[in-house]
Amino acid sequence: MITSFAFLIASVLFILGIKLLASPKTARRGNLIAGLGMVIALLAVLPQLHGSHGESVSLWKWLLIFVGILLGLVVGAAGAYKVKMTAMPQMVALFNGAGGGAAALVAAIEFAHLTSDSSLKFVVSMLCAAMIGAVSLSGSIIAFFKLEGHFDKPVTYSAQQLLNGLLFVVSLLLALAMAGGSHSMMLMGLFLVIALALGVLMVMPIGGADMPVVISLLNSFTGLAVAADGFAIDNVAMIIAGTLVGSSGTLLTLAMCHAMNRPVTNVLFSAFGKVDATASAAAAATGSVKSVQADEAALLLGMAGRVVIVPGYGLAVAQAQHQVRQLADELAKKGVEVSFAIHPVAGRMPGHMNVLLAEADVPYDQLIEMETINPEMERVDVCLVIGANDVVNPAAHEDKSSPIYGMPIIEAEKAGTVIVMKRSMGKGFAGIENALFLRDNCRMLFGDAKASLQELVTLVKAG
Ligand code: NAP
Repeated sequence: MITSFAFLIASVLFILGIKLLASPKTARRGNLIAGLGMVIALLAVLPQLHGSHGESVSLWKWLLIFVGILLGLVVGAAGAYKVKMTAMPQMVALFNGAGGGAAALVAAIEFAHLTSDSSLKFVVSMLCAAMIGAVSLSGSIIAFFKLEGHFDKPVTYSAQQLLNGLLFVVSLLLALAMAGGSHSMMLMGLFLVIALALGVLMVMPIGGADMPVVISLLNSFTGLAVAADGFAIDNVAMIIAGTLVGSSGTLLTLAMCHAMNRPVTNVLFSAFGKVDATASAAAAATGSVKSVQADEAALLLGMAGRVVIVPGYGLAVAQAQHQVRQLADELAKKGVEVSFAIHPVAGRMPGHMNVLLAEADVPYDQLIEMETINPEMERVDVCLVIGANDVVNPAAHEDKSSPIYGMPIIEAEKAGTVIVMKRSMGKGFAGIENALFLRDNCRMLFGDAKASLQELVTLVKAG
C-alpha cells in the first residue's frame, strides 16, 4: 500500500518534471522535481526486495545494492558536472545506453526465474524488454563514438538491409521458442547477442550528423524497454516512467526531423553525410567572399537601427555566450534594437542555443523563433551570424540538389547586411558549401567567435 502510494507520488513528480522542462525558465526546477521522483521510487522499491525464493535479502546483498546506488550517484553527478555543454549529446548517449542495458539485464535475470506457471504476458514483456534494451545499449555506444568523431561517416555495404532483416527474423524465431516454453539460458544469451548486433548494425550506416536524432530515438527505445520490464515485474512506476520516456523521446525525434524537413526513415536509412556535396556546391558557387575587419563590422553594428543575431554551433564551441550578451548590451545602450533568432536545430541538441544563451542571462524575450523572425528579416539592418552555417544556408530553399533542400532556415540573406563570424570557409554539420557567404550583402569576419566578439565589444564601447 505504502509502496503503491510512493509510486503514485513519484509518477506525478515525473509528469510535473517533464511539463516544467518545456520552458528554459522552469527547466532546472523540472529536472530537480523529476530527480526527486526517482529518489522516491528508488526508496519505495527497497523494502520490497527479496531473494528468488521469497527469502529476505542477505546483508552482503544489501551492501552490494548500496554500493551500486553510491557508484551510480558518483558517476552520474561527476559526469554531469564535468561534461562540456557541446559534449552533452555524448553524455546523454552513454546514460541512455546504461538505461537500456539495465532494462535488458532485468529481463534476462527474470528469464532465469521463469517457471511453467509464468504467464504469457510476463514472458512476452520480458522478451521485448531484453530485445529493445540491448538494441538501445549497443546503438547508444556506437552513437557515442560517432559523436566523438570516430567512424562518423555512414558505414554502408551491400545486402545491409538483408542482413538486418535476417538477424531480426532469427531473433523473432528465438523469441517464439522461448515464449513457447524453451527456458534455456543459451537461447536467451543468443537472443541478447543478436539484439546487440542489431543495435550496432542499425546505427553504423547513419552519419554522425544525425546522431542527436538517433539518440533521441534510442532514448524512446530505452523508455519502452523499461515499461516492458514494468509490465513483466508488475512495477507501476517503471511502466509510467518508461512510457513517459518512450513517448517524449518519440515526440522529440519527430520534432527534430520536422525541423530538418526529413522523415525519420530518411534519417535512419539514407546514409545522410555520404551524399555528394559537390553537386550543391557547384550550384551555389557564384559571387565572391568579401571579408570585413572588426572595426568596420563594429561601425556597421553601431549605426544599425535593428540587429538580429543568429547563434549556431560555433558559438557553443567558442563558449562565447557571455561575450555575445555583452555585445547585445553595448548595442542596446546605443539605442540599437537587438534580438536573437533561434533555429530549432541550431547547435547539436534540441534547445542548445536557448540553454547557452540562458547561461549568459540573455533575457528570454530577446529570443525569437525562426517562424516569427523570417517575415521581419527584410526590415533588419544587420544580421550577425555567429558560428552558424547550415541553419542560414539558402540552398535549403533554392537548390533542389542540396541534401538540406526543404529544411526551414533563418533567412539571414534578406537582411540589409549580413556579417558572418566564423574561423574559415569551413563547412557545417551537413558538410556542404553555403552560398550565403558569397552574396553581395554578406561580409565574413574571420576568427574564433569569442576573440572576435571580445574585439567587437571593445570597439562598440569605444565608438
Ligand atoms: P553548423 O552548420 O554545424 O556550423 C557551425 C559553424 O561554426 C561551422 O561552419 C564552423 O565554421 C563554425 N565554428 C566552429 N567553431 C567555431 C569557433 N570557435 N568560432 C567561430 N565559428 C566556429 O551549425 P548550425 O548552423 O548551428 O547548424 C546545426 C546543424 O546540426 C544542422 O545541420 C542541424 O541539422 C544539425 N543537427 C542539429 C540538431 C539539434 O538538435 N540541434 C540535431 C541533429 C542535427 P569554421 O570551421 O569555419 O569556423
